[in-house]
Amino acid sequence: MQSPTDIPLSRTDLKTMDGPELEAFAESVGEPRFRGRQLFMWLYEKGATSFEEMTDLPAGLRERLDEIAEIGTITEVRQQTARDQTVKSLFELPSGRHIEAVLIPDLDEDGKAKRLTVCVSSQVGCAMGCHFCATGLMGFHENLTAGQIIDQVRYMDTLARERFGRGITNVVYMGMGEPLQNYANVVKSTRLITEGLGLAPKRITVSTVGLARRIRQLADEDAPFGLAISLHAPTDAQRSAIMPVNRSEKTDLVALEGAVKHYHAKTGKRVTYEYCMFDGINDGEADARNLADVARWAPCKVNLIMYNPVEGVAFSPTSEPRLNRFIRVLVGEGVRVTVRRSRGQDIDAACGQLAVQA
Ligand code: SF4
Repeated sequence: MQSPTDIPLSRTDLKTMDGPELEAFAESVGEPRFRGRQLFMWLYEKGATSFEEMTDLPAGLRERLDEIAEIGTITEVRQQTARDQTVKSLFELPSGRHIEAVLIPDLDEDGKAKRLTVCVSSQVGCAMGCHFCATGLMGFHENLTAGQIIDQVRYMDTLARERFGRGITNVVYMGMGEPLQNYANVVKSTRLITEGLGLAPKRITVSTVGLARRIRQLADEDAPFGLAISLHAPTDAQRSAIMPVNRSEKTDLVALEGAVKHYHAKTGKRVTYEYCMFDGINDGEADARNLADVARWAPCKVNLIMYNPVEGVAFSPTSEPRLNRFIRVLVGEGVRVTVRRSRGQDIDAACGQLAVQA
């Protein structure tokens, strides 16, 4: 039989903590607060993966940390590069489950990177079940810690420097999962990215399916990053048919309208609506006019996305003529609109295509 002293105590994962929490942790183990700041620098600015590397900590403290704490890490287990240089990495979590992150380079004519965007995952799988999305088919399995999110960014930043000679310029939370269902860890991770990697908050965009209560919370807390809303349909009937989250009155378009107006009134910022173009489902002229009505809720930009087919899902992308007609109606209604073409489609790295064996 095991005696209580044989049972290993669970160690504290320091990569779940931000700066103030690390300072509090240092104090809690009888160390001065500045040790917490040193830990922050090693974990998030230098990317240390062991206490041994933390050479300005006393040797005794490093040994003690080895006993009572750990540094949670994710491990890359597969990497694929698409014809357009988009890179998709598969990472294993300590739980044995997997997530994906994507590095999307925007290259100029000489092949130099103008922009290097990392698309990160915030959950393993997703509970939202949007009918057109590969991740939605997986169901929800696990929330990522702030450290597991920043590790994806750090990994892609190193890769970007090796391949393109410069670090990443933007981070979007548009990978696997609904970021605002993992609210605390996502918000914390955005702070770690700005403080640890030095990226300006305006270079970070968090994308949500439209959880109204959480959008209000972001506004009230004056979250400094950008907000994108996966709209994909301009009326409740159409949206509820393809996005189950819309069937609740807490998250339908009426609730979303209230939250978006509140967000703009509080922050003065414009939101971006993501709108995947599905053939015959949301790409008609009447849909464009209804979308223009949504766009009038508050200042915004509409991002039209060419849908990427997902195996086992009966949606297909709109045609170029229908897309062009749709854009003409929107522009005629005074809506700011951009079109996002598929990236990394040949390695299933494009929007809505991320799915792994959880
Ligand atoms: S589109 Fe986003 S919110 Fe919807 S199921 Fe996929 S990952 Fe979840």
